[in-house]
Amino acid sequence: QLTNINGKVIIITGASSGIGQAAAKLLADKGAKLVLAARREDRLKELQLEIEKAGGTAVFKATDVTSREQMKALAEEAVSQFGQIDGLVNNAGLMPLSYMNKLKIDEWDQMIDVNIKGVLYGIAAVLPHMEERRQGHIINISSLAGHEVGIGHAVYSGTKFAVRAISEGLRKETYDKNIRTTIISPGAVSTELSNTITDPDIIDMFNSGEPFTFLEGKDIANAICYALEQPEYVAVDEVIVRPAGQP
Ligand code: NDP
Repeated sequence: QLTNINGKVIIITGASSGIGQAAAKLLADKGAKLVLAARREDRLKELQLEIEKAGGTAVFKATDVTSREQMKALAEEAVSQFGQIDGLVNNAGLMPLSYMNKLKIDEWDQMIDVNIKGVLYGIAAVLPHMEERRQGHIINISSLAGHEVGIGHAVYSGTKFAVRAISEGLRKETYDKNIRTTIISPGAVSTELSNTITDPDIIDMFNSGEPFTFLEGKDIANAICYALEQPEYVAVDEVIVRPAGQP
């Protein structure tokens, strides 16, 4: 028996674009009550209206995942609006790839703050509530770059390896409290993720083009939904989804 996610309360970070936005639309179609978070409030508002127009339920809260207080306030908003939190999708992320000798140390800091600390603050914001209810599902978005390290990917991959390590540790400590933890590791998806790259050598590499068709946000939304909908006794530890043509 698949789990019916109709009525489940799910927080999605990074919902203003790409994978998070696609996940919001799919989960709303399935009847989930969504709490949408990102920094760009105008985009969240637009998405909320679109979801409501299609008959779904969503609220939004402008949130910077690098702020502990804002993440805590996000979880509190979910409880005050809908009474509970059934799921958290820790999806917000940045990918300013660069060669290490360019010393883009501010960008290293940003990736650590958003991709690692943001995930930790998300976990901290919902874990007490989920443990108390003995119910919940935390989905952390890692990457193929959390399995292998390409040129220019040293720090980004470091953050995504960390997301997998944190998720596995969380799983082992909470599975017996009826909390499920899932890692989703996408390959190349067509989103705005590469917009933050400032290293011209990496931009050139990207512009030379990849000889395969990228995934769409909805392809990863399907993986998120698959994990959420499994029967209660089934835990999906990790899903790796790559473009069929990506080596
Ligand atoms: P996008 O750039 O399209 O989306 C990133 C999202 O993260 C935006 O909604 C952005 O919202 C949000 N975000 C960034 N910084 C913050 C912050 N400080 N606080 C709150 N939200 C923030 O990229 P994707 O959809 O591709 O990325 C989603 C996740 O998927 C990331 O974790 C990424 O690493 C991962 N991933 C993506 C792959 C790809 O090929 N695209 C492959 C593998 C993994 P805003 O700017 O409004 O705050």
